[in-house]
Amino acid sequence: MSYPDYILANVQKPARYTGGEFNAANKEWQKTEFRLALSYPDIYEVGMSGITMKILYEEINCLCFALADRVFAPWPDMEEALRQAGLNLQGIETGRALREFDVIGFLLGYELNYTNLLNILDLGGIPVKSADRRDCHPLVMAGGIGTLNPEPLADFIDYFVIGDGEGLISRVIELIRDLKKAGAGRQDILMELASLEGIYVPSFYTVEYSDDGRFRNIHKKMEEAAMPVKRSICRELPPYPRKPVVPLIETVQDKGSVEISRGCTRGCRFCNAGVYYRPLRHRSGAEIYKAVQELRDVGGYDEVTLLSLSSGDYPGISDLINRLNEAEHMKDTTLSLPSLRIDEKSIELVEAISGRKRGGITLAPEAATNRLQRVINKVISEEEILKTATCAFERGWTTLKLYFMLGLPTETEEDIIAIAQLASKAYDLGRLAPGRRPKLRLSLSTFVPKAHTPFQWFGQIDQNEILKRVHLIKNNICRRKISVSWNNPQISLLEAVFSRGDRLLGKVVQSAWESGARFDGWDELFDYSKWEKAFEEAGLTPADYANRHINLEDPLPWEHISSGVSRKFLEEEYHRAIKGEATPDCRIDPCNLCGLEKRIKNCHKISKGAH
Ligand code: SF4
Repeated sequence: MSYPDYILANVQKPARYTGGEFNAANKEWQKTEFRLALSYPDIYEVGMSGITMKILYEEINCLCFALADRVFAPWPDMEEALRQAGLNLQGIETGRALREFDVIGFLLGYELNYTNLLNILDLGGIPVKSADRRDCHPLVMAGGIGTLNPEPLADFIDYFVIGDGEGLISRVIELIRDLKKAGAGRQDILMELASLEGIYVPSFYTVEYSDDGRFRNIHKKMEEAAMPVKRSICRELPPYPRKPVVPLIETVQDKGSVEISRGCTRGCRFCNAGVYYRPLRHRSGAEIYKAVQELRDVGGYDEVTLLSLSSGDYPGISDLINRLNEAEHMKDTTLSLPSLRIDEKSIELVEAISGRKRGGITLAPEAATNRLQRVINKVISEEEILKTATCAFERGWTTLKLYFMLGLPTETEEDIIAIAQLASKAYDLGRLAPGRRPKLRLSLSTFVPKAHTPFQWFGQIDQNEILKRVHLIKNNICRRKISVSWNNPQISLLEAVFSRGDRLLGKVVQSAWESGARFDGWDELFDYSKWEKAFEEAGLTPADYANRHINLEDPLPWEHISSGVSRKFLEEEYHRAIKGEATPDCRIDPCNLCGLEKRIKNCHKISKGAH
C-alpha cells in the first residue's frame, strides 16, 4: 500500500517515505484496534534523529491493541507529486492515509515547523483547523518542548500533552480506545482527556483581548478544564528503546543514542530546556552499559551518543566512560557526548571517547564578559575558556567552534567587542600549539526570549541592530582565519514571535502556509515575504510580539500552562539578572525553591510492565 512507483521515481530520496527499516514494528492494521501516526514536522532525516519519537514509538507498539506508525514532512518535490496525483500523505509503514488513523501525534521541537504541521494535516486529508473536524476525523495531538507556549497552535491542535509524554501516552490511548468503543464522539473524548494531568484542550478555553488587541486573560469554558494546566512529570527516566528503528538513509544524527540524564540544574536564564525538563533525573550506569551494548547488538550502531543537556554533570561520568571503553563489546564502538561543560576535564573526557579521532570541538560560553555571564547565569571565566581551548589544541584538535548569543538582555558594546577579543585570543593560543594550523569558527545566534524563562519579559533586538552587532564583531576580529557565521535575523524574529505568541497568530500561520510557506527553518526555502503578507492580512506586527519589552505586571498568554517553576522564582531571577547576580546550581548548593520542589513528590511513575 505504499505510494505508486511513478510518485517515488520522481522524488529525491524515496526512502524518506517508504519505511521498511530494520526494527520497524510493522504491526498489522486489521489486527489492531487503535492506530496512531507519530509525526515530526520536518524531513525524515531530521525527525528520525531525535530520541523522543523512538521512545514513544516503542511504548505504543508494546501495547497489544495499538499500532504506532510514523510520518514526516514531505519535501516540496513530494508535496507537488502528491497534490498533482490527488493522493494523500500516508503513514510510512502502513501506507494508510493519515485521515484513517485514530490520532495524529506531533512532536513540537521548533517554532519554524508550524507551517509543515498544517501541510501534513492537509496532505493527509484532515481539516487543518480543529473546529472543522468531525467524529470521522483523527484527533490531533501535539507534545514536546514547543508546548511550553501552545497558544499560536491552539486553532489546529485538539489536545496538547504538556511535559513528559512517556507513561501518559499509554493512558491517553487506552482512554480514547475505551471511549470510542463505548460510542463516544470527539467532544466527549476531549472532555475526558482534559481531566488528566498534563493534557490541555485549547478549545475549552476562551481568550480575552484588550482594545489594542493585546492578550488580556484566558478563561475556561467548562468545569473539566484545568486552570492552570500542570506539566506532566515522570518520576524516573523512561525505559530506553530496546529495538530502535535503524534508518535506511543517512540521518542528521546517524548514530544510536541513550538518554543518560534528563533535566538540568544550572539555571541559565535564557534556557527553556532547563525549565521544561526539570527535575534532574539520571539513568543508572548499569542500565546505560546495557543500553549501549544493545544498540550495538540489536541496532548495529558503531557510534552511540550519551544524551543529556549537560553530559559532564552526570555523576561519575569519567568512570562510566572508562568502564564502557574497557568493555569487550565496545571494541568497535565509539561514544560521543553532545553537550560539554567548558573545562579541561571535558577535553579529557572527549579524548577518552574519541581515541585518535580529532574532529571539531564545540564550546558554548554564550557571553564573553563576566558581567554579562552573571546576567545570564552562565559564568565561565575567560581564563577557563582559554585554558580549555589550549588543552584542546595541545591534544591535537585543530578546529574549535565557539558559540555566542547576540542581543542578550543588558548587552553593551563592550560585551560584543569582548566576543571578538576572546575569539582572537583563543585562535592565537591555537597557533602556539605544535602541529597543524588551527581553525576557529565563531557562531553567533540571536537571543530569543522564551516563555517560562526568567528572560521571557525581555524583547529581542531588532534586525538592523542584530546586523550592526555582527559587523561590530567582524570589524574587531583581526585574524582573517577566524570564520564568523550568524543566524538569519528574520528566522530569529519569527522564533521570538511564536515563543511569546498568542492565539491570534493562528491566522498568521494559516495564511503563511496557504501562500506556500514550508520548511521555514531552512535558509534555502525560507521566504520572509510570505510571512510579511500574512502578518499584514491579520493586522498584526511581528515586532509587537518579538521586540517589545513586557512589563512584569502585564498578563502573559502562556501563564495558564504551569511548568512547575513558579512565577515568583522567575521574577526573582529576572531581578537578579538585572542586578548582575548569579544564582547557584541547586545540584551543589541548597535548593533555590524554584517551585518544582512542591511538585516532584507527586509526579507519576512509568509502568515498566508495558516493556
Ligand atoms: S546548562 Fe544552561 S543552557 Fe544548558 S541545559 Fe542547563 S540551563 Fe540550559
